[in-house]
Amino acid sequence: FAKRTPLVAGNWKMNLTRAAAGALIGEMKPLLKDASCEVALCVPFTDLEAAGAAMAGSRIRLGAQNCHWAASGAFTGEISADMLRELGVAYVIIGHSERRQYFGESDQTVNARAKAALSAGLRVILCVGETLEQREAGEMEAVIRRQMAGALEGITGEQLREMVIAYEPVWAIGTGKTATAAQAGEVCGLIRSFLAEHYGAEAADGMRIQYGGSMNAKNAAELLAQKDIDGGLIGGASLKAPDFAAIVAAAK
Ligand code: PEP
Repeated sequence: FAKRTPLVAGNWKMNLTRAAAGALIGEMKPLLKDASCEVALCVPFTDLEAAGAAMAGSRIRLGAQNCHWAASGAFTGEISADMLRELGVAYVIIGHSERRQYFGESDQTVNARAKAALSAGLRVILCVGETLEQREAGEMEAVIRRQMAGALEGITGEQLREMVIAYEPVWAIGTGKTATAAQAGEVCGLIRSFLAEHYGAEAADGMRIQYGGSMNAKNAAELLAQKDIDGGLIGGASLKAPDFAAIVAAAK
């Protein structure tokens, strides 16, 4: 099998206005020019146009942080996949734990949003991950399996190729508490096994599985050295050019 090209994607969450977004990308561009992995930045909707323009001439791909499941209609405050596509968006994060925790996102809505994104020609970064209570209750694997099965319901093998899975333990997001490389590697391995069971070994081997949760310039190399970890989804550290560049440099 061809070696999987890691994807390091920044998730800016609700940070940076358009002027600040342009400035940070300007700072990142020279630092990322020799990247040997794929790089994306998932920015707030209102930054997409400016970020896309600032990325011109670089290999950074434009990403968004969510999209709605309908093509258009009476969904006040929502953004459709086609709207993102027209702005040059390549990747969209679906099912981030903050959406699941604070905005009522369920496995069913995650599935619907993922399908809409794929139909519009976007690539999906699908997030899964257990809470601390679930891990401590011994439910980690069951939770991951339930989230995977729910999110991938009705998604074909061909569509799966346009997806990246991000394993993000909720207890490690924005907490400064990183999963150990062994813990992260174990769950990414479980995710790959799930994919092999449902889509076959070849499809599973080709899939990129990221780790996310307080990944930073210091811990990235060890996490990325795990055989089933193919990149990272980076929150806090993607807001600082040198930190993000160091993580990108660690992903070979
Ligand atoms: C995230 O929100 O996807 C994330 C991994 O955040 P942080 O790196 O800040 O933990």
